[in-house]
Amino acid sequence: ETVPVITIDGPSGAGKGTVSALLAKHLGWQFLDSGALYRVLAIAAMHHQIEADDEQGLIPLASGLDVTFIGQEHGCKVVLEGEDVSDLIRTEEVGAFASKVASIPTVREALLRRQRAFREMPGLVADGRDMGTVVFPNAKAKIFLTASAEERAQRRYNQLKASGRNVSIDNLLQDIKARDERDMNRSVAPLVPADDALVLDSTSLSVKQVLDSVIEFVSQKQ
Ligand code: C5P
Repeated sequence: ETVPVITIDGPSGAGKGTVSALLAKHLGWQFLDSGALYRVLAIAAMHHQIEADDEQGLIPLASGLDVTFIGQEHGCKVVLEGEDVSDLIRTEEVGAFASKVASIPTVREALLRRQRAFREMPGLVADGRDMGTVVFPNAKAKIFLTASAEERAQRRYNQLKASGRNVSIDNLLQDIKARDERDMNRSVAPLVPADDALVLDSTSLSVKQVLDSVIEFVSQKQ
């Protein structure tokens, strides 16, 4: 009766999104990009002129979020209140706003039920910061994927460069460190590996190597 869950948590830029989506595809399971929910909430708040620290304004917005995810892959189409926000949710501005609203305990609570609703047969791969510690504590396999801040900045730099944008790697590194700091030191659901998580450092690994290690670990947990 219980639907199996695999959680993949870690800091931004460690490759969770890519690996989680590939794993979900490999298994034929559902996929939850929980960061996208926080990002969508950030956009909804911006649209309704609600500030990032306006708890009373954010809670009803979080529990009544009118969002649809179309597709299963990382970066799939996201529709908020009838508007395609797929590109907008990936901007740095929205990411920064998301990490602020994500630091409010009652806002996180308002998103819990929605995240758990993704748990459907035949199984779920959940990507985020607190999937294994808070949202799905009884997941059958938990992975914590990290990489050095320098490597994550380099990957982000390559991505942006490829899409024709000119950015400074030093600025990216600073942004990454600031976001890590905020995510790790917040009072509720801070970014830490679950006690029973496999901690995997992807700094010098390819996507394929990470995916293979994850598949190997998951198969031992059957
Ligand atoms: O993973 P992503 O960069 O899309 O997440 C955006 C922000 O949402 C993160 O910086 C983090 O503060 C927050 N978040 C969270 N818990 C999650 C997923 C994301 O607090 N499960």
